Amino acid sequence: MKSKDTLTCFQCGTCTASCPSGRYTSLNVRRIVKDSIKKDVSDEPELWMCTTCYNCMERCPRGIRITDEILRLRSEAVRKGKILLAHRNVCRYLIETGHAIPLDDAHNAMREKIGLSLPETVHKYPKALREVKTLLKSTGFDELIKE
Ligand code: SF4
Ligand code: SF4
Repeated sequence: MKSKDTLTCFQCGTCTASCPSGRYTSLNVRRIVKDSIKKDVSDEPELWMCTTCYNCMERCPRGIRITDEILRLRSEAVRKGKILLAHRNVCRYLIETGHAIPLDDAHNAMREKIGLSLPETVHKYPKALREVKTLLKSTGFDELIKE
């Protein structure tokens, strides 16, 4: 389904010119908007290169909710099982450890050195991991990220 907003895009390119991510990656947000109107973009890796900084959305002269649209397109892609391997791995970490990026021994040692205790998460309360897993399962998250 297409967002009504994107149909008003007149391809001015302000979004692309404002996009910090596009300066370093192949992301061309103007093209994503254009393509999403006429075809399924779930397979496009550029969909995942947006950092959701909202620059484009703030500047679009048509007031198109570009970043929200990218997030919607991503959700659509995930529902079709299209998700980059790196992101799938992060999701797996979340399910297994309760953290997208769990602390390892090296980082724990660094924290200790500067006087930081364990964060108020499953690192500090390992028993809470079971609850985190139950919550994620209840949302169907584990099924969504299966290969
Ligand atoms: S800034 Fe808005 S109108 Fe211009 S190309 Fe991007 S989405 Fe289209
Ligand atoms: S929200 Fe995404 S697409 Fe828009 S400017 Fe930021 S990185 Fe680029």
